[in-house]
Amino acid sequence: MSEDIISRYEAVKDRIRKACENCGRDPDSITLVAVSKTKPDEDVLRLLQHGQFHFGENRAKALEDRMESIGNTSAVWHFIGNLQTNKIKYMVHRVNWIESIHKKKALKEVEKRASEIERIINVLIQVNISGEGQKSGCEPEELEGILTYAQKLRYTRVRGLMGMATFADDPETVRPEFRLLKDLRDRHRHLENDTAVQLQHLSMGMTNDLEVAISEGATMVRIGTAIFGERNY
Ligand SMILES: *Cc1c(COP(=O)(O)O)cnc(C)c1O
Repeated sequence: MSEDIISRYEAVKDRIRKACENCGRDPDSITLVAVSKTKPDEDVLRLLQHGQFHFGENRAKALEDRMESIGNTSAVWHFIGNLQTNKIKYMVHRVNWIESIHKKKALKEVEKRASEIERIINVLIQVNISGEGQKSGCEPEELEGILTYAQKLRYTRVRGLMGMATFADDPETVRPEFRLLKDLRDRHRHLENDTAVQLQHLSMGMTNDLEVAISEGATMVRIGTAIFGERNY
């Protein structure tokens, strides 16, 4: 079982290396976030021992439980799911990255909770890049207002954008969605300042489409199935 997970993990690392080779990028410029949702702690521990440090969960309670059970390790925790403002207080003490912020109200709450414990939290602004259907993330037009608001925050650091592409059998079909996220990042770079807003990161690409995402500039890929196997939900 644990042999399986390590060989699947190494296969993902290989895919990342090859994708980087094909577009002349440095594989070290890509952060692999292992999305462990619904999978047992032993899988996470096995990967930690193997040198994988970034882990993502998409439910607040699952993240809280996971951070608690894995305890004080070198793990770096990412929250990647639909974020309810009232759940932020349960993760700020340990989470390192909140990738799925799409409202000023959520930024305000992260800032409030992070300042209480004087802890810096990295965040990404999630943008709806898949159009009408799935409504996750802010609309591209809202980005300027959100980033302008973030400029004055002290404990909340915007580090880039996150997007989820439409699910498609052929990943080439979602290339325009990844390109949109990168364009939006490039077009908002004038809003960067010394500390609070820096837009170096693009979190995009999952099991099905990581190669396309990397060729369009992803700096973080969020991989679940290819590492942990199929999920039963
Ligand atoms: C589940 C999930 C992933 C990983 O998806 P896979 O297709 O299993 O690699 C990435 N990002 C988010 C936001 C997710 O919820």
